[in-house]
Amino acid sequence: MRVEIEILGSGTSAGVPMIGCDCWVCRSENPRNKRLRASVLFRVDGRVFLVDVTPDFRLQALRSGFSQVDAVLVTHSHADHVHGLDDLRAIYWGGGRKPIDLYGYPETVASIRATFAYIFDEDYEYKGIAKIDTHTFEHEPFTVAGIKVTPIPVVHGNMRVAGFRIGDAAYITDTNLVPESSIELLKGVKLLVLDALRRTPHPTHMSLPQALEVARAAAVSRVFFTHINHDIEHESINKTMPEFARLGYDMLRASVEEDGSVKVHEIEPSGLPPIIASR
Ligand SMILES: [Zn+2]
Ligand SMILES: [Zn+2]
Ligand SMILES: [Zn+2]
Repeated sequence: MRVEIEILGSGTSAGVPMIGCDCWVCRSENPRNKRLRASVLFRVDGRVFLVDVTPDFRLQALRSGFSQVDAVLVTHSHADHVHGLDDLRAIYWGGGRKPIDLYGYPETVASIRATFAYIFDEDYEYKGIAKIDTHTFEHEPFTVAGIKVTPIPVVHGNMRVAGFRIGDAAYITDTNLVPESSIELLKGVKLLVLDALRRTPHPTHMSLPQALEVARAAAVSRVFFTHINHDIEHESINKTMPEFARLGYDMLRASVEEDGSVKVHEIEPSGLPPIIASR
């Protein structure tokens, strides 16, 4: 089974550049230092799974050029991961008004249903909204559109966050601790996209050194880091990485091929559409 991950956004909650910041990374003209909020697409056997619906979702979908979403997998309910939910309506319209299946932990789904109460209100009179069917999971793998998805629980401050493994590819964001039992669930994963906020420790995210340790413990072939803030300048920090590890960036695509090899579809910085103009 071939599984591809596309990074739709590699940025932390405020994005990079951050409003009002004049640091050298926020002022950088290198497109790889421009990070929309954290989200990925899994492409597998003709299916497209969207992980999280960020406030940048509309830009991310237009930039990437996808309009098919077979299901939405949600890591947790923080604003930078779900507050673009209303924009799923264009996917809903384009998909023949078939309700969109959304999967999350029970507390994640409850929070989404409260935040977006109008979307789930049968009596809401404005009909231009998406219909979303919510589903919950706990520890067991579940099947979405015929594809097995394994949730990987991780710790994010005082809450749990779901990572997702499909085939031999996995995505884990927003965590300061990947428990030993979850490292076990990553065994055999060849391609991992993993949270690494900045160089120094943080109470709810992993630092770059911590994330490298997790990737080594899981023995993955390739790891790309994501949910990155403006502490990290792409080119200079990338040079310090061991061979199997790199900083992720917006629109990067990598896949685990049928034969188990990992293929990275590099995009030259000049090939990245300038969604956010340089200041
Ligand atoms: Zn986040
Ligand atoms: Zn900055
Ligand atoms: Zn979070």
